[in-house]
Amino acid sequence: MFDKVLIANRGEIALRIQRACKELGISTVAVHSTADADAMHVRLADESVCIGPPPASDSYLNIPRLLAACEITGADAIHPGYGFLSENARFAEILEDHNITFIGPTSEHIRVMGDKIAAKETAKKLSIPVVPGSDGEVTTEDQARKIAKGMGFPVLIKAAAGGGGRGMRVAESETDLINAFATTRNEAKSAFGNDAVYIEKYLKKPRHIEIQVFGDGNGNAVHLGERDCSLQRRHQKVWEEAPSPALNAGARQKIGDICADAMRGLKYRGAGTVEFLYEDGEFYFIEMNTRLQVEHPVTEAITGIDLVLEQIRIAAGAPLTFSQDEITFSGHAIECRINAENARTFRPSPGKISYWHPPGGLGVRVDSGVYQGYDIPPYYDSLIGKLIVHGKTRNECMMRLKRALSEFVIDGIDTTIPLFNELIRQPDVANGVYDIHWLEKFLGKP
Ligand code: ADP
Repeated sequence: MFDKVLIANRGEIALRIQRACKELGISTVAVHSTADADAMHVRLADESVCIGPPPASDSYLNIPRLLAACEITGADAIHPGYGFLSENARFAEILEDHNITFIGPTSEHIRVMGDKIAAKETAKKLSIPVVPGSDGEVTTEDQARKIAKGMGFPVLIKAAAGGGGRGMRVAESETDLINAFATTRNEAKSAFGNDAVYIEKYLKKPRHIEIQVFGDGNGNAVHLGERDCSLQRRHQKVWEEAPSPALNAGARQKIGDICADAMRGLKYRGAGTVEFLYEDGEFYFIEMNTRLQVEHPVTEAITGIDLVLEQIRIAAGAPLTFSQDEITFSGHAIECRINAENARTFRPSPGKISYWHPPGGLGVRVDSGVYQGYDIPPYYDSLIGKLIVHGKTRNECMMRLKRALSEFVIDGIDTTIPLFNELIRQPDVANGVYDIHWLEKFLGKP
């Protein structure tokens, strides 16, 4: 096992990883920018190193500085969390070369899955069902037109290097298509440095259902059920739950087995998420994330398995602690992303938290990286915490969520809590009847 782990991240996820390290008896090293000197992840770590000024490119994304921090502190592994360098194949490769363990998959798997075109090809080869679309990259308008006409509109133009809900555009007609094709390519070039795009059938009313997988790197792999992340705004998840209100045990097992088999075929190592759209009883692969997800706690709640602890154990060379038969699902869990944003306009709301009172009680978990008096810097993602509730049934979970939200007080900044207070009162949400467009339609209402 490792003696010391450096956590190349900030906020709630840095704290989450520290907790797992501490339970394993591993010392923790926090890194931070000058803007984060007072952050909770710095205060709670055993050691901390300032790695640069506020812009992420000069601190959290700066590989030489992270390597120097490892050398100064003698850390033998790095956990990247999510975002930042978590899906940067080059970073994983550099660590491999420096004999520092990257707590995650091999650089090769990160690279393949990081390119959505290559990921889709790989998925097809592994018998995972994919969204109908172009065979790989589309390079000319003519090609785009032919493919779109063949499939029928609407279609979606997607950047191979896209992520975080960016780099995709819907085209409803041929005129739309030509514009969308050029714009998506240009944007992809400037945002991701790669203008490769591909075309997919635009599904009209799917749910977003993703499967959590885990592999030991030697051909053993399991799935830990699904998460339903259909409540989204601008292709970004707002509310996640497990199990999905739309799946039965048979459908879960079928898609779970397909994913676990695929991970065995890949000899995948560590945690991963295979993302699907689900419409009319069919699953369609969209991408695979080769890292821990923001919404991993809902899976932890219904399986009782600490996913971060498992990631660390597997990176240290240990076998999986559970077989597929030993994984059982119990009850229902929902996660609400608490962002420092206005709940209607979604404008970021950095600044001082003048009062902070998180909820508690049975089945309530709050993962956050802030505290009363903390000044949220304006430079980073606006996620400040996650409220996760667990109940025996979905109904109990919803009642508990309502209760927990009513206890949650955050003053001094705007947060997304009022949005969740509205959502739990909507009959469609109460009944679990929503697709990926539901939230945008709801927010569009006067
Ligand atoms: P990202 O890497 O940016 O998260 P994804 O490919 O995972 O991109 O897609 C994010 C979201 O975009 C999905 O959850 C879904 O809401 C929407 N989306 C992606 N592909 C399609 C599609 N073919 N049809 C309809 N919606 C889609």
